[in-house]
Amino acid sequence: MDAAFFRAWITETAAVIGERRDYLTRLDAAIGDADHGANLARGFGAVTGALAGQETPTPGAVLKLTGVTLISTVGGASGPLYGTAFRRAARSLGDETDAGLPALAAALQAALEGVRKLGEASEGDKTMVDALAPAVDALARAVDDGASEAAALDALVAAADAGAEATTDMKALKGRASYLGDRSVGHTDPGAASTALILRALRDVAARHDTVR
Ligand code: ADP
Ligand code: MG
Repeated sequence: MDAAFFRAWITETAAVIGERRDYLTRLDAAIGDADHGANLARGFGAVTGALAGQETPTPGAVLKLTGVTLISTVGGASGPLYGTAFRRAARSLGDETDAGLPALAAALQAALEGVRKLGEASEGDKTMVDALAPAVDALARAVDDGASEAAALDALVAAADAGAEATTDMKALKGRASYLGDRSVGHTDPGAASTALILRALRDVAARHDTVR
């Protein structure tokens, strides 16, 4: 997976976030302040512009520019959290020009650690961590088992989707939704939903990219 692949992932993410903007906003309207879709659409729109205007010769450079741009353009909790996630992943990838599955798994693990450190959320708190953590674990297991890239990324997406879905029954203990207490139960967490969309975009781009299959 080279820099072009990572640019394709982020471009696909921007497109999907744009398409699902209203869905994410509806989720945030139920338990937050109805800005998650707009926040991410603005942020990834800016990222697309930044990628078009700057050289990003390595996967790490692509994700670093993504993270830096999200931090500077997304208000709310999710901007710093996603920005940190992408910057940590970038640092993990370093200057390599091609990232294999183990490097991707390590980068996503680093992203998770960054989110955990900044947001101090644990699994079960009804946040993006509830989608990201099981996805990272599933990918690590698939890599350990010697799974193909296709199977490993399918496992990543399945775990992220299940994790996001599972937030519906959780009571929010972190972020704005926690102000609602028990009334947050019965609604899917918007950040967990967007995390699942971002990881699905990765899998979908890989499925279209000859070089990684
Ligand atoms: P805000 O809550 O400031 O309006 P957004 O609506 O863009 O920001 O993002 C809300 C999402 O951010 C939540 O659905 C949740 O997934 C995530 N989030 C909020 N606080 C935390 C936290 N402390 N740790 C991890 N994720 C968090
Ligand atoms: Mg919000």
